[in-house]
Amino acid sequence: MKKFVNEDNTRFRRGSTYTKVIADIAQKNVCPFCEDQLLNFHKNPIEKKKYWIVTDNMYPYKPNKKHILLIHQEHIEHAQEISTAAWQELQVIIQEQTKKNNIDGGTFMLRFGDGRYTGSSVRHLHAHIVQSDPEHEDYKKEVGLVARIG
Ligand SMILES: [Zn+2]
Repeated sequence: MKKFVNEDNTRFRRGSTYTKVIADIAQKNVCPFCEDQLLNFHKNPIEKKKYWIVTDNMYPYKPNKKHILLIHQEHIEHAQEISTAAWQELQVIIQEQTKKNNIDGGTFMLRFGDGRYTGSSVRHLHAHIVQSDPEHEDYKKEVGLVARIG
């Protein structure tokens, strides 16, 4: 059976709402980022581009000042499936969003393919623009903002 989420990759957020949401999605066995399901699981406003959906992450990495999710509209899972036009639009979106949100520094992250190697919990291809919050007390207590890439 095809799986749309990787519950194993939510271990580091054990006990969180996010872990419960992913477990619920796994049980329903639906793709939370496909158009017919997205609004059931995602309550932040979305902006539809031609190839990508731009929205704030419902369950952002912490501590952050901004965490934007860029979801490929069509269900694909591997970077090899991204068209040249979609890559170009992604470039424009990154430039627009960093300007609009005054992101002086941040991280762009795109995991792809088999989640056993990426740490991603949702297989439907999506990217992140994350700006951490170095002034937040949790940033100083921990080791900054940590996100899995494997
Ligand atoms: Zn999907």
